[in-house]
Amino acid sequence: MKDIDEFRQSTRHWLEDNCPASMRVKPTQKDNVYGGRKWTWDNPDAQIWLERMADKGWTTPEWPTQYGGGGLNALQAKVLTKEMARLGCRKPVIGHGVMMLGPALLEYGSEAQKLEHLPKIVRGEIRWCQGYSEPGAGSDLASLRCKAEDKGDHYLLNGQKSWTTDADKADWMFCLVRTRTEGKQQEGISFLLFDMETPGISARPVPLITGVSHFCDTFLENVKVPKSQLVGELNDGWTIAKALLVHERKQMADLESSMPTPKHSVDEYARHYLALDENGKVKDRAMRDRLIEHMMTKQAVELNEKRAFDEGMAGVFDMRTMNIFKYVGTEAQKEKADLIIDMLGLTGLAWDEENNESDLHRATMEWMTSLAYTVAGGSSEIQMNLIAKRSLGLPDR
Ligand SMILES: Cc1cc2nc3c(=O)[nH]c(=O)nc-3n(C[C@H](O)[C@H](O)[C@H](O)COP(=O)(O)OP(=O)(O)OC[C@H]3O[C@@H](n4cnc5c(N)ncnc54)[C@H](O)[C@@H]3O)c2cc1C
Repeated sequence: MKDIDEFRQSTRHWLEDNCPASMRVKPTQKDNVYGGRKWTWDNPDAQIWLERMADKGWTTPEWPTQYGGGGLNALQAKVLTKEMARLGCRKPVIGHGVMMLGPALLEYGSEAQKLEHLPKIVRGEIRWCQGYSEPGAGSDLASLRCKAEDKGDHYLLNGQKSWTTDADKADWMFCLVRTRTEGKQQEGISFLLFDMETPGISARPVPLITGVSHFCDTFLENVKVPKSQLVGELNDGWTIAKALLVHERKQMADLESSMPTPKHSVDEYARHYLALDENGKVKDRAMRDRLIEHMMTKQAVELNEKRAFDEGMAGVFDMRTMNIFKYVGTEAQKEKADLIIDMLGLTGLAWDEENNESDLHRATMEWMTSLAYTVAGGSSEIQMNLIAKRSLGLPDR
C-alpha cells in the first residue's frame, strides 16, 4: 500500500510538471492525436505531451519496457489513469495501434514483429488501420474472400476491404485474408501486416452523413506482402482476429473518453434546456424518468467496470464479459445522445458548419456518432447473440 501511495504521489507531481496546460482541456474529436507519418500538429503542446509520455512508456502503461511500454502493473496503470483524469490530462495518442493491434501483437506476434512495431506504436510514429470487413463480410466476418496466394517468398493479395476507418490516413494495415478455401471458413483465414504504401493499394474515402469521411473502401490489387509479415500461424488468423476484437470491444465499451463529447453533462443539459419545478427538479415526468434511468445505467456500468477491474486483479476476469460491456456501453452512449437531442427540443439536431464547436452542433455530432458505434466492432445484435450463446449458454435458435 505504501508503494502504491508513493507511486501515486510521484505520478501526480510528474503530471503536474509535465502536462502542458492546453493538454488539460477536454478534447473535441479534432483534438484527438492518432499520430503516424502523415500526422500534422495543429498544437505543438500535443507533440510535446506525446513525446514526454512516450519517453516514460505511459502512452501504453502496461506494455513491457523492452517494447517501449511503461512496464506498470494493473494497479499502477489504474492510478496513472485516475491521476490523469484528476488533472484533466488528455490521452497523448489513441487509435488502432495502441488500442487493438499492440495488445494482439504482444500475445501473438513474433519477437521480431514486436520489436519492429510496438515501439513505433508507443511513440505514435505509425498509424494503423483495420482491414477486416468486406462487402458481404461484416457480421459474418468469417466469410471474407480477400485472397492471399502463396508465391514463395511473399503472399499476393487481391480483394476489397470496406468500412476501413482512416485507411487514407493510416501508414500500415492489419488485415484478414483468405489463405485456404477448403474446409471450415474460420480455418482458412490468416492475419497479415503491411505498409499502405505497398504498390497495388488504393483507399477511397466514403462520404458520410456528418460531412466528414472516416471510412474508406480499400482495394488490394496484386499487393506483395513478405511472408515475415504473417502474424501467428498460417490459417490460424481467426484466433488472433477474435482476440483483437476483444480489445476493440473493450475500447468501445469506454467511449466517453474519445467521443466528440458535448460541453455539458446530461444533467447540465437538463437544467439548462428543460423547465424545472420550484424544487429545481425537471418538471416533465417522462423526461425525468429517462434522465434517472440513464444515470442509473451509467452508475451500474461504472460499478461493473470496477468489479471487472477487481476480477482482473484477482486473475478471475472472464473475457466473454467484454461483449456485455461493448453492448451496454455503446447502447448507453446512444441513449444519452438521444436524450440530449430530445431535451434540446426544437433546437435538437442543429447543424452549423460555420460554428462546428457550438454546443448544439456537437450534440448532433455525438448523436450521429453514437449510432455508428453500436454497429462498429460488431453490431449490438451480434453482441446479443454472443452473450446469449457464450455467456449464457443458450442454444443458437
Ligand atoms: C463507425 C464504424 C467503424 C468501422 N470501422 C471498421 C474498420 O476500421 N475496419 C473494418 O474492417 N470494419 C469496420 N467497420 C465495419 C463493422 O465491423 C461492420 O459494419 C459490422 O461488423 C457490421 O457489418 P455490416 O456493416 O456488413 O452489416 P451486416 O453484417 O450486413 O448487418 C446488417 C444488420 O443485420 C444485423 N445482423 C446481421 N447478422 C445478424 C445475425 N446473425 N443476428 C442478428 N442480426 C444480424 C446486424 O446487426 C445489422 O443490424 C466499421 C463500422 C462502423 C459503423
